[in-house]
Amino acid sequence: MPAALDVATETPLARTRRARRIVRLLGEIHPDARIALHFDNALELLVATVLSAQCTDKKVNEVTPAVFARYPSAAAYAGADRAELEAMLRPTGFFRAKANSLIGIGAALTERFGGEVPGSLDALVTLPGVGRKTANVVLGHAFGTPGVTVDTHVGRLSRRFGLTDQNDPVRVEAELCALLEPRDWTIASDRMIFHGRRYCHARRPACGACALARLCPSFGLGPTEAGEAARLVRGTRGDVEALR
Ligand code: SF4
Repeated sequence: MPAALDVATETPLARTRRARRIVRLLGEIHPDARIALHFDNALELLVATVLSAQCTDKKVNEVTPAVFARYPSAAAYAGADRAELEAMLRPTGFFRAKANSLIGIGAALTERFGGEVPGSLDALVTLPGVGRKTANVVLGHAFGTPGVTVDTHVGRLSRRFGLTDQNDPVRVEAELCALLEPRDWTIASDRMIFHGRRYCHARRPACGACALARLCPSFGLGPTEAGEAARLVRGTRGDVEALR
């Protein structure tokens, strides 16, 4: 059983090193970690990310092919028939609010950005329904601009790792950015999301099956017995679809 890690006495340098080791190890545990949403361009990713709020990526991926085909441009969203768009988005939940956001985004992109998705955080967060989380997803995966995306998994794991004690996603983002190298910001988020889905579940984390145990001060939060923990692990490298 790993020795308990005392993050209260950890130096900033030790914490930085531990954070980077965690991200490296996560890469070995989840070499397939990547964004699960399907898209071919920045507009499609922006739309898919808006639709992923309170919805699984799998469900979003079922809905988006028809949406992308029907609305191939910002202008198409701006001019969408609201009832028709809402009907297409209904399976993703909160479909009225999401339709509202997409029509508003289409209008804003058309009026202020020449119909293109802007490639800066400051510009993206001016779009209706787009916060830092969505903006960082788009920047990191469509523009190659590193960004830490703090969703429910990244927030939970960051706190369990003892890398932050903040609950506010913006503060978590700032603390992770300070610990990690910018080139790792996007991939660190992807890996943490995969680890949250597969091992470090909100209710019963699979601690006894987790390769991060020695680096994690929360080891023991879930079952530590190997067999019991192994049964909690969801998905495998060849079973990615099951996680989405
Ligand atoms: S040891 Fe447990 S709490 Fe820590 S990352 Fe692994 S599953 Fe999560």
